[in-house]
Amino acid sequence: MTINVLFAARADRWATYEAPLRAAFAEKGLQDVHLATDIPPEAVDYIIYSPNSAVQDFTPYTRAKAVLNLWAGVEGIVDNPTLTQPLARMVDTGLRQGMVEWVTGHTLRHHLNTDLHVLGQDGQWRSYVPPLATDRPVTVLGLGELGGACAEALAGLGFPVTGWSRSQKQIAGVTCLAGAEGLPRALETAQILILLLPLTGQTENLLDADRIARMPAGAVVINPGRGPLIDDGALLAALDSGQLGHATLDVFREEPLPPAHPFWAHPRVTVTPHIASETRPTTAARVIAENIRRGEARENLLYLVDRARGY
Ligand code: NAP
Repeated sequence: MTINVLFAARADRWATYEAPLRAAFAEKGLQDVHLATDIPPEAVDYIIYSPNSAVQDFTPYTRAKAVLNLWAGVEGIVDNPTLTQPLARMVDTGLRQGMVEWVTGHTLRHHLNTDLHVLGQDGQWRSYVPPLATDRPVTVLGLGELGGACAEALAGLGFPVTGWSRSQKQIAGVTCLAGAEGLPRALETAQILILLLPLTGQTENLLDADRIARMPAGAVVINPGRGPLIDDGALLAALDSGQLGHATLDVFREEPLPPAHPFWAHPRVTVTPHIASETRPTTAARVIAENIRRGEARENLLYLVDRARGY
């Protein structure tokens, strides 16, 4: 029987995803798949979704067996009351590798104080020697697919890495802390703090004035997680007072970040336009295809979102 797969992610992504999806379906032995951007709702078996999708009311998709998100973050859909189908999020090797590279690159920029030499080409012989990574404690908030991989990579470079998550983790070379009592300890050593938490009711404004005050003076914040994890006003005040030395931000409460937002002009803020890590079509298509194969074989789907938990 034909499997009807609706591509309901952003329209301009169709051209990028169509060929990898068809190739991945063939690879998984899914023979009779009808993949299209327009299928009558009552005939749809699977919905490939992204946050800015035109589909926001899932009620007419009475036959759909799952909604398969192309993004790792699900804050835009997890509370949708019309969604009764299982929701799977994206866990993709390309997404993971991209995040490790972005986080490592920006961590090393601050650790080595690269700007001093790259931007200071003014004839001054600045003999600044950075400490070794072994003398630069780094903390990663969130030890999931992305945070865990970043923590491992940074530990591999020699940084003393502390990680924090909801449940206790064990990662070689990383001091893993958990729960409310673990957070103050995770913050107090964090010369560089990386946020890779999902946005939920529990994590919104997690980095507020009190928690920033627990960090070492002059610490750096790197946020590729989600904008609302940080209280923007508290962040700006801490940058102005010197409590924080720099913030490298990839995600914001409003995206694109409005031109008048103070982050753009602040000398100690680096803005990147939500590019820390993109889902990679070739590897992501295999994840989607595997979940459809599982759905058809009545096996458990991969990477199901716990809707009560919010991620
Ligand atoms: P994940 O696998 O679900 O991991 C989330 C981690 O956060 C887990 O370790 C989880 O703890 C922890 N966590 C959640 N709520 C917590 C709480 N209240 N207290 C303490 N720890 C908590 O997610 P992921 O795939 O690593 O992705 C993380 C986030 O990265 C996404 O949600 C998305 O917002 C962001 N992201 C950004 C980009 C970009 O380009 N900027 C790209 C992809 C993803 P447990 O392990 O105990 O559950």
